[in-house]
Amino acid sequence: MWNTLSYRNVLISRFLNILYPSKCPLCGNLTDGFIYSPICSSCWSKIDIYKGPSCEICNLPFSSEYSRVCGQCIKNPPPFSMVISYGLYDGVLAEAINQLKFYNVKRLLKPLGRLLLNFDLPEMDGLVPVPLSIRRLRERGFNQSLLIARVISKNIRIPLLMDTLLKVRETPPQTGLSAKERLLNLKNAFVVKGNVEGLRLFLVDDVMTTGATVTECSKQLLKAGAKEVVVLTLARASMM
Ligand SMILES: [Zn+2]
Ligand SMILES: [Zn+2]
Repeated sequence: MWNTLSYRNVLISRFLNILYPSKCPLCGNLTDGFIYSPICSSCWSKIDIYKGPSCEICNLPFSSEYSRVCGQCIKNPPPFSMVISYGLYDGVLAEAINQLKFYNVKRLLKPLGRLLLNFDLPEMDGLVPVPLSIRRLRERGFNQSLLIARVISKNIRIPLLMDTLLKVRETPPQTGLSAKERLLNLKNAFVVKGNVEGLRLFLVDDVMTTGATVTECSKQLLKAGAKEVVVLTLARASMM
């Protein structure tokens, strides 16, 4: 009798979980709140600011006794002046970004965007989100970078420059390409439409990997007259 009941309970709870997925994807415990759901608050509290050594320009985690700038940035100085990222792209932060992007869990936007308010951000004139192509935007239904930029804009009152930078060409996925191939892949994909003359801008993206996207976007913004570009991302990944 006990066995039958408990078996039935397991079935019911499995069924409920299919209907209302409420288990934390990281630890498997039941989600205990709505704000970070499906991530539980205990896992959420483990999202850490990356405080380890990193390149002064591109923020790539690295350490050297001789230089505070990584080899890549010495060889090919990037167009942006610096990169500010909250944490490394792994663990809870990576899961939260993936839940937002690929499972459409938009309630994570606010807590994710607010992570970036933990920094003393430099004074800038506007926030420019990294754009998606029209096709990708239709598929996903939203641009996560724009939504993150909006959260920041509301909280620190820096104007959000929507439709200033556009992605005018659909590009094949960057995964599996080398850093050089990624840059080539994005050539002429972005166009500046708004007036950015003399402005110091934050360029906002969710994750920075090789930096090909933010490099290409920064180049276009500077070419259009922007004075400076600082990249702001939730997470910094190493080459995937
Ligand atoms: Zn958890
Ligand atoms: Zn670097």
